[in-house]
Amino acid sequence: MSQQPGQLTFVAPRRAKPARHLADLSMAERRAAVTELGEKAFRADQLSRHYFERHTTDVAAMTDLSPAARDKLSALLPTLLTPVKELTTDGGTTRKTLWRLFDGALVESVLMRYPERVTMCVSSQAGCGMNCPFCATGQAGLTRNMSTAEIVEQVVSGARALAAGEVPGGPGRVSNIVFMGMGEPLANYKQVIGAVRRIVEPAPHGLGISARGVTVSTVGLVPAIGKLADEGLPVTLALSLHAPDDELRDTLVPINTRWKVAEVLDAAWSYAARTKRRISIEYALIKDVNDQEWRADLLGKLVRNKLVHVNLIPLNPTPGSKWTASRPEDERAFVRRLEFHGVPVTVRDTRGREIDGACGQLAAAE
Ligand code: SAH
Repeated sequence: MSQQPGQLTFVAPRRAKPARHLADLSMAERRAAVTELGEKAFRADQLSRHYFERHTTDVAAMTDLSPAARDKLSALLPTLLTPVKELTTDGGTTRKTLWRLFDGALVESVLMRYPERVTMCVSSQAGCGMNCPFCATGQAGLTRNMSTAEIVEQVVSGARALAAGEVPGGPGRVSNIVFMGMGEPLANYKQVIGAVRRIVEPAPHGLGISARGVTVSTVGLVPAIGKLADEGLPVTLALSLHAPDDELRDTLVPINTRWKVAEVLDAAWSYAARTKRRISIEYALIKDVNDQEWRADLLGKLVRNKLVHVNLIPLNPTPGSKWTASRPEDERAFVRRLEFHGVPVTVRDTRGREIDGACGQLAAAE
């Protein structure tokens, strides 16, 4: 499944689909499904509250349903994710879970608790077809697209652990979701949009997490960025730029051979204009590869005066990689150059590094 350098895989291999789950369905579809199972349509609301408000999947605990109804409705709550491994660090406030899907495919998600927020980093595909050479997931190729419910289940499981007080800091809630785990979310467009809807819709429809707390990160699939802008979902768009010039970006983010820096930035500015949301530009600083001051200068010129924020990520070297993070002085010079252009910039923390849970390290090695 591993790919040649620069090779792109857009279409996921055809494989058996995971079972239909409540979270795959809109409320109207849930009512129809419940009726098909021989129950009254309003049971869909009850079942939805159990799942999205209380994060319950065990029908035995749903005492407002008759035993016969519980039996039938359990068909809408198949087990989609099985935990294989859980690793924690930062005193338990960062935790990475490796999940096995029904067909043996492996994906990972990471929960990060900060004093003022809880962010969950979720996967949208098993593997990834975008082949960025510095990214661990990119090296393995694409296994398959995840279903809407498989994506949502990662969040629900984190929400359940938080509500139960299993994460140090007392009972809490998930406030932010970043599609920065395994996969290219915009290459699995339909399922990802379904998941975003379930995440932001208020109960009983969904989890009721503010769309402002949701970030969809992409290598830059230009037509899909346009479609996302049309959805009317004010989610933050993160663009993995990593180089301001086509020559270098063609190699670091191979999708650039299809859509160039100028095109992808245009798509991002249109997205910002439509949604009024600030674009987050992701830029992994790689020593002597993309961290030169002249590149900071070029980046600054490309993004200044736009609704933008630049997120510099010290490269997390993947096993066997010839690349490493920038020298501190080069990182500082890069930041200064961007600030000179008046561009808001921060350097991202590298939480989860020790458990291979940081950006780009999710590889589901087993
Ligand atoms: N496919 C999407 C989302 C997944 S990765 C995308 O590319 O945007 C989330 C972020 O981590 C992206 O910005 C990605 O480029 C970055 N990343 C990948 N590998 C990395 C690494 N080894 N070090 C630092 N950041 C990395």
